[in-house]
Amino acid sequence: MKPIRYERRKYTTGNTPIERLDRLSEALGGPTISIKRDDLLGLTAGGNKTRKLEYLVADAIKQGANTLITCGAVQSNHCRLTLSAAVREGLACQLVLSEPETGYNPLASGNHLLFHLLGTEKIKVIPSDGDMLAAMEELAQALKQDGRKAYLIPVGGSNEVGSLGYMACAEEIEQQAWETGTPYDYVVTATGSGGTQAGLIAGFMARQSSTKVIGINVSRDRASQEAKVLELVRGTAEVVGLEGEILPSAVQCEDQYVGPGYAVPTDEMIEAVQLLARTEGILLDPVYTGKAMAGLIGMIREGRFAKEDHVLFLHTGGSPALYTAPHLFLPAKN
Ligand SMILES: *Cc1c(COP(=O)(O)O)cnc(C)c1O
Repeated sequence: MKPIRYERRKYTTGNTPIERLDRLSEALGGPTISIKRDDLLGLTAGGNKTRKLEYLVADAIKQGANTLITCGAVQSNHCRLTLSAAVREGLACQLVLSEPETGYNPLASGNHLLFHLLGTEKIKVIPSDGDMLAAMEELAQALKQDGRKAYLIPVGGSNEVGSLGYMACAEEIEQQAWETGTPYDYVVTATGSGGTQAGLIAGFMARQSSTKVIGINVSRDRASQEAKVLELVRGTAEVVGLEGEILPSAVQCEDQYVGPGYAVPTDEMIEAVQLLARTEGILLDPVYTGKAMAGLIGMIREGRFAKEDHVLFLHTGGSPALYTAPHLFLPAKN
């Protein structure tokens, strides 16, 4: 592997902690479970996009950009964190949001409220089947006419540059595993735009680690998600000069926990969010980590892990969205 020649900004001090979830393991009668607290990463309310942005924003600054443009759902954690990074760096930030089925509500709470609080320069709402990239390019063009320079970040920050953040995370996990003498057999993570899973896979490969990564889908079916992640692993491997062919078997995604669709609640998600809150006092979110934990619980119940396995659950963040759906978690649902 070539040394990674990408610039990096730093938005978190030190490593995120890895904590043992003994009460959860006991409640499930499962393998040993630990959690990597990437919900405690830096920038506003943390989460996985912070690691990707360390490389993406460094690239933007290197290219002389003064405005970040990105896109996502109305409750996008990625949009909140991109805006937060822009604030930190003294850059402007414009967002393209896709209109939800229920219609765009300018008073939506959660991340949407934070977009305004953190001071986004502009929000452009487009229909859910609209072309986000085209909308971002239009904004960039308008800025250019004003003599400004935009840097476009794709959905979820998932390209080869963003994935470097999760290669670095794999490195961090390996180092923590080494220090505590606890190698992990599996890392379980939510997978959406794919950069988190792809970066982890490339990072463990670069380390010749035997840790396997299991992605729990939050949208797409298994075949499309695996193809998407594989393409990104290959692209990232090329950027860093990782040698050797990357086989499709390197990518494993599970699609039984998506439910009716992206961000649509499921009973399993509600159970998972409640179980983690009540056994460990840790908050998950309804869109990503709740479904990923539902996946981990489901796989444990199916007997997919051996008792002596050590599983690391990656907490990718997202808690602001929890407060947009209080009705899901009221006692009446029990
Ligand atoms: C974006 C996001 C994910 C998914 O990560 P990808 O790299 O897009 O696959 C998981 N959890 C949270 C909280 C997110 O915001």
